[in-house]
Parts: sequence; C-alpha cells; structure tokens
Amino acid sequence: MSSEGKSLQGRVAIVTGASRGIGRAIAESLAQRGADLALVARNEEALNETRALAEQSGVRALTLPLDVSDADAVKGAVEQVTAELGGLDILVNNAGLTRDGLLMRMSEEDWTQVLDVDLKAVFYFCRAAARPLRKSAHGRIINVSSIVGIIGNAGQANYASAKAGLFGLTRSLAKELGGKGTTVNAVAPGFIETDMTASLPQEIRDNSLKSIPVQRLGVPRDIAEVVGFLCEDGAAYVTGTVLPVDGGMSLGSVG
Ligand code: NAP
Repeated sequence: MSSEGKSLQGRVAIVTGASRGIGRAIAESLAQRGADLALVARNEEALNETRALAEQSGVRALTLPLDVSDADAVKGAVEQVTAELGGLDILVNNAGLTRDGLLMRMSEEDWTQVLDVDLKAVFYFCRAAARPLRKSAHGRIINVSSIVGIIGNAGQANYASAKAGLFGLTRSLAKELGGKGTTVNAVAPGFIETDMTASLPQEIRDNSLKSIPVQRLGVPRDIAEVVGFLCEDGAAYVTGTVLPVDGGMSLGSVG
C-alpha cells in the first residue's frame, strides 16, 4: 500500500515498547498515517512481528532491540535512527512496566525498576531526541502515562509516582521545546486490555468496568488513534496537555 498523501507521510517516528500491546497498536496507527518507524523494545522477535505489520502500510521500519533504561543504548539508537531514516519528527515514549505491591512490602528494587523504566528512560529518550526534533518542522513528543498518575492506586505507589512524574516532564519540555514548534503531550490511558492487565483478578476487572462511564474496557487501538491524532498537523497547537483516554474512568463514581 502506498503512503502517498497520508497525514504523516515522510515523517520519522520512534515508538518505544513497540513489541506488543499499546505500543504495537501505536506503531500500526502511525504507519497507516504514512510515518517511517523505529521500533524499540527488548524482544527482537516480537519487534519483527510489529515491523511486518507496519510494512503492510508501505512504510520503512527499523527494529532497535534495547533496554530503555540503558542511557548509552538510547543515545546510540537515536543516532542510528537519524542516520538511517534521515531525521526524527516524532517520539512516542510508551515502554513501561509494573511491579505492584503495598507500600509496606515494596522492595527498593521494585521501586527503582519502575522509576527507571517508566520515568528515567523517558528522560533519556527526550534528551537524546531533543536536537533532531528541533530540526523538524513538526516535532512531537507523546508520553504514555496512566490515569493512575492522576487518581493514584493502592499497590502501585511506584508506578503512580513514575506516571505522575511524566506530567511534570511533559509540561516542562513543552515550555523548553515549543519555540521550534515541537509539541509535548501526555496521554493517560485507563484500563486497557493488554498483557499488562491480563493477569489481574476478575474482581478488579469487574470493579473497573463499573467505574467506566462508556461501559467497556479499553483496547490498544483506543490509545493509538489518539496518539496518531496528536502527531498530525491538526494538533500543532496542543502542547503541555495530559489527555485521559479512559472512557471517563478518572471522572470518579458512575451514576
Ligand atoms: P505491555 O503489553 O506489558 O507492553 C509493555 C511494552 O514495554 C512492551 O513492548 C515491552 O517490551 C516494553 N518494555 C518494558 N520494559 C522495557 C525495557 N526495560 N526496555 C524496553 N522496552 C520495555 O503493556 P501495555 O499495556 O501495552 O502498556 C504500554 C504503556 O501504556 C505502558 O507505559 C503502560 O504503563 C501504559 N498504560 C497501560 C495501561 C493498561 O491498562 N494496559 C493503562 C495505563 C497506562 P519488551 O518486553 O519486549 O521489552
């Protein structure tokens, strides 16, 4: 399929956490809009599957198997993308993990690992990407946070702290990078059906459903379409925002 005439035709995007779930759906959404892609995660085989899906839209796609919490690997990856794909227009920081546990039983390792992957790695990518993004006329950073960063969640103090930290990073970078036309926004998904939520007990799923006004759990495409829109020229005047994409879950009790 040709990418001619599409809204992101000729743009280059990095998507982290692209091996499955929301990241894979974002990769597909950007590819369908015509963007060339650099796909980041640790699982190379799964990245190759995402690449094959993206290539069905007629775009170029690189796979970059790496751990996002490795600052040198991140810097090298961004350099490789600009050299091989000819620049950088879009950075989607989506890689993330959870290590849940109540505060009194939470190990320092579980705290640090979540902060390293869900927050510090985003700093690594933004720092490495800032210069090439400023050269783009349509620079975009989208940070995938969570409504847990807004409303909190028992058993997720580490994750909520990291995801709330992304709001401050997003707003600060919106101010730092706006002068060259780069926008920086965060999306805050609610309950989305992926590997991350697959092992949650049925009771939590049922209770979550009761608190969602649109009365269904989310799917990766719900997030991917909003990220796709934020990358388009039509969203050029939107920056520094945190956009919940949660079926209304963060509004509080239903009915
Ligand atoms: P997922 O299915 O578990 O996917 C997580 C992705 O992150 C995978 O591609 C994984 O790839 C990558 N990743 C994790 N640690 C990494 C590391 N150290 N280095 C490189 N890549 C790493 O989760 P998901 O539900 O799609 O979540 C995507 C994002 O949405 C996350 O930031 C998550 O916090 C956020 N979110 C999800 C929900 C939800 O309900 N699902 C709600 C709110 C926010 P590898 O394992 O191959 O490295």
